[in-house]
Amino acid sequence: MKIALVGIGAIARNQHVPAIAASPDWELAATVSRHGSVPGIPAYDDLGAMLQAHPDIRVVSLCVPPVPRYGYAAEALAAGRHVMLEKPPGATLSECVALEDMARAARVTLFATWHSREAGQVAAAKAWLAGKRLTRLRVTWREDVRRWHPGQEWIWEPGGLGVFDPGINALSIVTEIVAAPMHVTEAMLSVPQGRQTPIAASLRFHHPDGAEVAMEFDWRQDGDQIWTIEAETDAGTLTLLDGGARLTVVGAPAAGATGDALIGEYPRLYARMARLVATGAIDLDLAPLRHVADAFTLGRRETVEPFDF
Ligand code: NAP
Repeated sequence: MKIALVGIGAIARNQHVPAIAASPDWELAATVSRHGSVPGIPAYDDLGAMLQAHPDIRVVSLCVPPVPRYGYAAEALAAGRHVMLEKPPGATLSECVALEDMARAARVTLFATWHSREAGQVAAAKAWLAGKRLTRLRVTWREDVRRWHPGQEWIWEPGGLGVFDPGINALSIVTEIVAAPMHVTEAMLSVPQGRQTPIAASLRFHHPDGAEVAMEFDWRQDGDQIWTIEAETDAGTLTLLDGGARLTVVGAPAAGATGDALIGEYPRLYARMARLVATGAIDLDLAPLRHVADAFTLGRRETVEPFDF
């Protein structure tokens, strides 16, 4: 199937273009970006012009930041195209719901991707936790914003999510592997002076069985980057490391670790998109974004030192 990529920035270049190139399902047939392009691929700086010029491209994959995403998605759905959304699926919950209604009316696929759910050991973690009683869940997501988001100003603007841009990856895994419904009860958001979004956040959750659930997201990490989820249960402790790439269960490492969580994530997302398009199905799970919205609604703010790249 022919597909168009919209928003040729870091994630489009590093993951989407190689995943499409390696896929038996997809052919990259056009790009839409105001500044970026992919060598050898027809390039447009306007989505409407691309949609009109290529009625044969039935699928559009959006890699723009969350705030402009709704406009692009609505335009593609209105033109009857299937749409794949980078995470988070939108800047607000309401615009995501609106997109779902549009997709349903147009009878096309809408896929809200959560790439971290496709990390190598997430399915194994989910299978092991099923049926066990959770007593404590601790998430530690500490990374260096300068290393992963160099010069990206949109992450500091309203709707850019700040540290929840990576934090929502942890939430996407937790909402996949923990079956019980949880909700945020407390949040502290540390916002750099003069910025609109947090550089760090700590969250507490209610868990129906009384498990103690806490998450720490911090973008000020020097040295080793930490993406860890530790779940204590009545049958011992499970630890997901490196964003879901590695797993230990009751102290024993699971087989099949890749060392890099991103390896395999995007090929699996594109394979899933191909299956969804085949039946016109919609896959729009808003649970991770709901927790982020709750943290912004409920969170206390503290002002911390200014941030510059
Ligand atoms: P990025 O490097 O800033 O690229 C986004 C591209 O979107 C820009 O190059 C820009 O291209 C286009 N764009 C259109 N409207 C824009 C606007 N109003 N403001 C800024 N850019 C606009 O961002 P990214 O890191 O690729 O992230 C894009 C999405 O992918 C985000 O939702 C992010 O959470 C997600 N993601 C990123 C990573 C990562 O490691 N970077 C990993 C997984 C997921 P033109 O100027 O050419 O139009």
